[in-house]
Amino acid sequence: MALITCPECERSVSEQAKECPQCGYPIQDMKTTDPYEYARDHFKPDSMDDEEKKLSNNGTISFILALVSLFLPIPVIDALIAVGAIILGISGLKAKKRGFAIAGIVIGVIALIGALSLLVSGEYFELWDF
Ligand SMILES: [Zn+2]
Repeated sequence: MALITCPECERSVSEQAKECPQCGYPIQDMKTTDPYEYARDHFKPDSMDDEEKKLSNNGTISFILALVSLFLPIPVIDALIAVGAIILGISGLKAKKRGFAIAGIVIGVIALIGALSLLVSGEYFELWDF
């Protein structure tokens, strides 16, 4: 099996390795990315990594908020949380890890539609007539 040079710490790493044993750099990710993306993502100042973290955090928060708004039985608050989830999800789309952001937007939209239709149909008020 071949050895490659870790772009982070410049040690030799097996190309079969999931990540660099020295610094934890994700070797597998590197192999699956095309050279342009690889260059864009890895030859950049550290501040970009912070930005990436922030954006992917936005995606994760978006996903959690969307789930909360989906299951919370208070449509007015649901709608507000869902809008927040969608906005965070959209900003999270700029991150490389954007699975959560996409999920957050999709679930956020569903929750928003659900909450609004409950409000419009007036069932929200009936919920309170115990
Ligand atoms: Zn390394």
